[in-house]
Amino acid sequence: MNAPRLSRRSDIGAKLHVSFEFFPPKTDEMEARLWDTVQRLEPLSPEFVSVTYGAGGSTRERTERTVRRILTESSLIPAAHLTCVDATSAEVDKVIGEFADMGVRRFVALRGDPAAGVGERYHPHQGGYANAAALVAALKKAGEFDISVSAYPEKHPESPDFATDIEMLKRKVDNGATRAITQFFFDNDLYERYVERVRRAGIYIPIVPGILPIHNFGQVANFSARCGAHVPAWLAERFDGLQGDPQTHALVASAVAAEQVMDLIERGVSDFHFYTMNRADLVFAVCHMIGIRAAHSDGAIAAA
Ligand code: FAD
Repeated sequence: MNAPRLSRRSDIGAKLHVSFEFFPPKTDEMEARLWDTVQRLEPLSPEFVSVTYGAGGSTRERTERTVRRILTESSLIPAAHLTCVDATSAEVDKVIGEFADMGVRRFVALRGDPAAGVGERYHPHQGGYANAAALVAALKKAGEFDISVSAYPEKHPESPDFATDIEMLKRKVDNGATRAITQFFFDNDLYERYVERVRRAGIYIPIVPGILPIHNFGQVANFSARCGAHVPAWLAERFDGLQGDPQTHALVASAVAAEQVMDLIERGVSDFHFYTMNRADLVFAVCHMIGIRAAHSDGAIAAA
């Protein structure tokens, strides 16, 4: 019997690139868990790992501490997220300088969510950067940085239409962004259609899909509603009845995420950004399935 099509994917693992996103931990216990996660994912040689930044700089110290630890205690390349929320441009510039002094060369530049919470009206700080495009321009001026920005396959909830949304992406690219990472999504057709629109608008940077392995379907469904990501009925159906069964939930979640990534590979995608939620298992399993394996000391990929 022939091997099922998808299990033969491991041979192309070497052609794929992954990056992982972490959030700065709040407690010693969360920090220990994050560090376990970092150590488990490190051998997969991601292109970079990014660390999020809370609204209004609320996680500034924790983001800086996490990035510093990654720089000093791992071989990973960190990318620091930055937002414009509730800060003057001088304050943001100072943070950029602190990261640069630490040795950070990659940033993910964002406007950020309103300090009052997702769904509230956004008011730029009077003396601050008005949006992510302005922040990208500031980073470009501050140094030789690799700058990623956000992209929204289902458009940002504040955008009246796709044209407005893609116009903002274009401004970010014109100002120096070289990669866009998408909001998570579960319907690959929406991503493909979005990339077509982006290309038609003359934007040619990589639009890297953001993949969210589902650790808790209930929480993801709630969060998706707030950030405008559609949860298809078939996805809800897969997790139906698993609330009290974490083991099966995890098995289903890894199958669902692997299936999504494999389908994107079939469509020609080669770079993936994983929202890890500071947990390694699901991401590690998906990477294994697509042939991203720990590198041997001689740099070769382990036999698939
Ligand atoms: P922008 O790119 O500036 O704008 C996004 C869209 O909103 C645009 O397409 C534009 O059409 C529309 N828009 C913006 N302003 C207006 C306006 N005034 N009127 C009409 N439409 C408007 N948040 C954090 O707080 N910290 C993080 O670390 C973080 N990391 C993220 C990483 C990724 C990969 C992604 C996709 C999102 C992340 N976010 C983070 C969430 C992000 O901050 C929010 O989605 C925020 O609402 C928009 O920020 P942005 O940089 O996408 O905004």
